[in-house]
Amino acid sequence: MDRRTLLKALAAAPFAGAGWHVHAQTKGPKMVEELQNNWRSFLAASTPVPSVTDAVKLSKDEWRKRLSPLAYNVLREDGTERAGTSPLDNEKRAGVFVCAGCGLPLFTSAMKFDSRTGWPSFFTTIPGVFTEKTDYYLIYPRTEYRCKRCDGHHGHIFKDGPAPTGLRYCNNGAALKFVPQDGKA
Ligand SMILES: [Zn+2]
Repeated sequence: MDRRTLLKALAAAPFAGAGWHVHAQTKGPKMVEELQNNWRSFLAASTPVPSVTDAVKLSKDEWRKRLSPLAYNVLREDGTERAGTSPLDNEKRAGVFVCAGCGLPLFTSAMKFDSRTGWPSFFTTIPGVFTEKTDYYLIYPRTEYRCKRCDGHHGHIFKDGPAPTGLRYCNNGAALKFVPQDGKA
C-alpha cells in the first residue's frame, strides 16, 4: 500500500465505522421484530397451533396425570431443574419450543443462544405468550415469566443476554417441548 492509498484508507475508516454503527442500531430492533413475526415459518404448515386465548385450566390431579414429575414441579410448583440436565439445552435444530403444559408456541430456534448456564436460553420470545411478575424467592427481585395460556411457570428474565435485546429468558427445559420444523421427532 503506498502512502496515498494509506491516507485514503485512514480517512475513510472513521466514516466506515460510523456507517456500520448506525446500520447495527437500526438493524437490531428490526431483526427482533422479524423474528417475532416469522415464528410460524419454523413449524410445518400442517402442525396445529393452539391459541393463547383458549385458556387451559386443570386441577392439580389432572396436571399430575398430564405432566412428568419434573415438569409438574417446574410448571405447577415454580420449581427449577438442575442446571445441565435438560437435553433441550443442546437442541440446535430449526423448530419451535412449545409449552410442555399446553402446547403454546413460545420461542423459535432462531431466538435461542448458548448462555453456558446449563438452561435453554433465549433473547426474545414469540409475542404475547408470557405474563411477567417480580418475585423475591432469592431475596433480591427477579422477573418471573409464566405461560399465558396455562399459567405454568417457565423461568426468569435476566438482563445479561446478547444484543440486540440484552435479555436472557432462562427457561427450564422440563417446561418445554421441541417441535422440529421438518416434523420429525
Ligand atoms: Zn402453557
